Amino acid sequence: MGRHKEAPSKPRSRASGEPKPPPSQGRGPGGKAVLLPQARGFAARLIRWHKRHGRHDMPWQNTRDPYRVWLSEIMLQQTQVATVVPYYHRFLSSFPTLAALASAPVEEVMALWSGLGYYARARNLHACARTVMADHGGEFPRDPFVIASLPGIGRSTANSIATFCFGAQAPIMDGNVKRVLCRAFGIDGFPGGGAVEKRLWALAEELMPKRDGDIYNQAQMDLGAMVCTRSKPRCDTCPLADTCIAKAGGRTAELPARKPRKVVPQRDATLLVLLHDNRVLLETRPAAGIWGGLLSLPELPAGSDAAEWATRRFACRILAVSPAPTFDHAFSHFRLRISPLLIKVEPGLAAMEPGLTWLAFDKLESAGLPAPVRRILESLYASGNKPLDSRKR
Ligand code: SF4
Repeated sequence: MGRHKEAPSKPRSRASGEPKPPPSQGRGPGGKAVLLPQARGFAARLIRWHKRHGRHDMPWQNTRDPYRVWLSEIMLQQTQVATVVPYYHRFLSSFPTLAALASAPVEEVMALWSGLGYYARARNLHACARTVMADHGGEFPRDPFVIASLPGIGRSTANSIATFCFGAQAPIMDGNVKRVLCRAFGIDGFPGGGAVEKRLWALAEELMPKRDGDIYNQAQMDLGAMVCTRSKPRCDTCPLADTCIAKAGGRTAELPARKPRKVVPQRDATLLVLLHDNRVLLETRPAAGIWGGLLSLPELPAGSDAAEWATRRFACRILAVSPAPTFDHAFSHFRLRISPLLIKVEPGLAAMEPGLTWLAFDKLESAGLPAPVRRILESLYASGNKPLDSRKR
């Protein structure tokens, strides 16, 4: 028998059948799965820390009312606590119950949300209240999977409501939690989606304690907001410091990985500020698209002449036109370059067609306006509308 060379044996890989260890486990001697040091007592350490150092007196805490918890969860998405607090109180004094919210006109809801941004949240909030009234007899469902099927509620928010209100033991995954997990477990890659987010969810499920899920979830959010902050984590006061991979490796600045940069596209919009007798013409935006359902300034179609278009569209007589300073407004996926054009008019009757409103400047505060539109009108109001005197036609 001739000699033959045996192919070198490859180290066993997952592709060869070895199962991938769960995210909370590594391989010990002999390839045995062992719990990572970072996972040992993770929940217990956070719960202990929270009892002494966490936040306990935010307006939406110390209640198990799902309406209040849900409202705060939606408002806190992408928004700081300090910004949310006054909106939360105003909202509750106008709509003290889910039934009150469901029976209100959506315009009233949008007006109260005005300035908080991400307006789809307000439309979904209203739609969700109506769904709970219509399909669940006005009672918030208790099962996280059913809660997650309601308008505007994702997995993390559903778990949060189920945990805080109904005693479920279900993990959450907001920006604070992602930051803490990525650093404590040394997880690379952008955590905002795809495989990394999936891995974080799997890890969060494994770390979830069997009891005190509400304290644990709050503790993670508080640690992320108060200690494990994005730019200056206070590792010396952190209950996870002795096992934290980012701290040990000096990698807190690089974890979690930032979103891959992409060029933000720019769009341009000319907004017409039609003025008459201390009032401004506003129209309700279509439900779909930016500022959906809010009152806004009419947008000039690209390539149109402002005076001609306004005359035709609003059956008004143009008295004076003057440009106001251009500025940029950032949306999540693009930047909008806004060029306001001030137009003094003598209005015609057509300007009162449905969806159009002449709003008095002293009623600006209570109107549901997008932030940049409010900015234009408030600066105009404050300046006494002087730019209009500069160019007559
Ligand atoms: S030790 Fe530092 S980096 Fe690690 S979890 Fe705590 S605060 Fe965050």
